[in-house]
Amino acid sequence: MLSHFPFRHIDRTQLNTVKEINTATEFVQIAGVLLSFETIGQKQGKRIVAELKDKTGVIELTWFQGLSWVQKLLQTGQSYLVYGRVSYFNNQPQIVHPEIELLQPEQSIAKKFLEPVYTTTEKLKAKGLGGRQIAKLTMALLQQIREKDIEENFPENILKQLKLINRFQAFCKIHFPENKDGYDAAVNRLKFEELFFAQLRMQLIKSKRHRSSKGVVFDKVGALFNTFYHSHLPFELTSAQKRVIKEIRNDTATGRQMNRLLQGDVGSGKTIVAVLIMLLAADNQFQSCLMAPTEILAQQHYNTIASLLEQMDVKVHLLTGSTKAAARKKILAELAEGELQILIGTHAVIEDVVKFKNLGLVIIDEQHRFGVAQRAKLWEKATIPPHILVMTATPIPRTLAMTAYGDLDYSIIDELPPGRIPITTVHRNESQRSKVMDFIKAEILKGRQIYIIFPLIEESAKLDYENLMKGYENVKAYFPEPKYWISMVHGKQPTEQKEINMKRFVTHDTQIMVSTTVIEVGVNVPNASVMIIESSEKFGLSQLHQLRGRVGRGADKSYCILITGSKLGNDARERINTMVTTASGFEIAEKDLQLRGPGEIDGTKQSGALNFKLASIVQDREILETAKNIAATILELDPELSSAGNLPLKNFLNQSGKRVIWSKIS
Ligand code: ADP
Ligand code: MG
Repeated sequence: MLSHFPFRHIDRTQLNTVKEINTATEFVQIAGVLLSFETIGQKQGKRIVAELKDKTGVIELTWFQGLSWVQKLLQTGQSYLVYGRVSYFNNQPQIVHPEIELLQPEQSIAKKFLEPVYTTTEKLKAKGLGGRQIAKLTMALLQQIREKDIEENFPENILKQLKLINRFQAFCKIHFPENKDGYDAAVNRLKFEELFFAQLRMQLIKSKRHRSSKGVVFDKVGALFNTFYHSHLPFELTSAQKRVIKEIRNDTATGRQMNRLLQGDVGSGKTIVAVLIMLLAADNQFQSCLMAPTEILAQQHYNTIASLLEQMDVKVHLLTGSTKAAARKKILAELAEGELQILIGTHAVIEDVVKFKNLGLVIIDEQHRFGVAQRAKLWEKATIPPHILVMTATPIPRTLAMTAYGDLDYSIIDELPPGRIPITTVHRNESQRSKVMDFIKAEILKGRQIYIIFPLIEESAKLDYENLMKGYENVKAYFPEPKYWISMVHGKQPTEQKEINMKRFVTHDTQIMVSTTVIEVGVNVPNASVMIIESSEKFGLSQLHQLRGRVGRGADKSYCILITGSKLGNDARERINTMVTTASGFEIAEKDLQLRGPGEIDGTKQSGALNFKLASIVQDREILETAKNIAATILELDPELSSAGNLPLKNFLNQSGKRVIWSKIS
């Protein structure tokens, strides 16, 4: 009951006069004498109209419902206290359905607190638990309990340091505050409590994992890593890449199992980080495996990595569903022998028949395509669980990452390699389509390739497919064969068909790719320089950003053209504006968080990690930062929370949460 917090309060600390009411007045509380009342009107219009007079004037009160109850209560000449919202009827102020109570002569008039308003449900109401009854019960409850009944869960010094009120006071004041300051103090304390214990719980899990679960040790930086680093790196690493590599090296050298999320915007250069870490593993006589969500991506990774490592004495193979039986047999044998150091592939690499001699590192690209169960299989592939690095280009705002992934190791590449030509993003509406087509023509003439993306929303799939087909016909009319060739890819095609069409675009046999969002993840066609997104108001921000990331990968100036209808809602307009003005994935993710709220992140749905009662990771980021830092400081000094001072924390954790936390990637 105490945790059923009011969603707002009404101010009953002030007594107003009739005279001070004006058109800006919202709620008033007035004490006065009832002059008259009468029942008027018929049927729906039947109502009671009364006049209440205070020292300064007269105001009208009106009831349309509960007439018999009102009739019983009202008596001319009596004093009443009324509260309600002022509205105007025929230019006269009135209060419709005011709260009203009889004033006893000796009663002090104004109440000493803000009155809480609670949410309730129809069913609760039917059982006599409407908002007012809940308020009464809560009041009664608070009158019966004492400070000792609500155990404090913070050590004294934290309360002092952060100037937090104690837990008992917080519960009293969030329900029945004397004033706004009291309410704010209560909310602040309870928000901090929520965020702090969530942080403490996650950091405990993380530090326990670090202390207890044994991991593979990569303590040597050997010949492979060094040779590649000094002689074969095709470019200077960015300082963000260097920092991340150092973070990973620090982890893997200690003998604790790494479970790390590596975040970096599209094109930030995660692949080279993966390569260097795999070489580090090989230097320490361990095998690595890199998994990609699709065959095309796995193939692309293989091509990139095999050519990077061409002059190195290290063996790399590709294993996918379409690897031929003979090649597969050879790969499996080499894996089991330990001859093959780096395996790149799709889901095929986690099949039971794939056995490693000594797997030490697993890298998962674009994690969200892999289910938790699939990842769990990786653990069984080695006696000591391998280090796991999950790479994702979907930026997650810092506050979200802290709350959802606070128990994981976490690295960010927040810098793009130098020399990228920024992508120009523009917004066009449908009436400007022919100009857009002319622009495409000019780009194709320069030898570039074009993406045209159509939305596919599950609820309107049929309509969306029709639009896609219409769009395809339309594009074809502008760009007829044999001068132009167009690929089309969508989810209803058989996989083979899809792959053929995709390949034709990759190999530049076609100049235009018309597609739904199936091409979203990872596809790399550096020659593509224009991304056109049709009905772009239907896409979410992060999806738009992912799509835009398909261009700007080569040496040429690239463009993203967002086409929308001419009428846009506010949110859609804001999304489009954000895209036009912002290139940073992290800024876009922040904006997305503001617009949509945290929603959920893959795999965190059941964890409740983001379900706070009071706190919001959008508005309360300062409290969240403080909570995180304080939790870290406490655990650093007392990792098991075994000191007497931290007993309240430990007790509260034990009582409150056997909640499951999404504690491991695999
Ligand atoms: P992503 O993080 O999206 O996986 P990639 O690893 O595919 O990015 O890198 C994108 C492109 O940037 C590749 O062509 C890669 O060779 C190049 N690249 C990566 N790091 C650097 C760097 N430090 N300097 C210059 N180019 C780089
Ligand atoms: Mg990548």
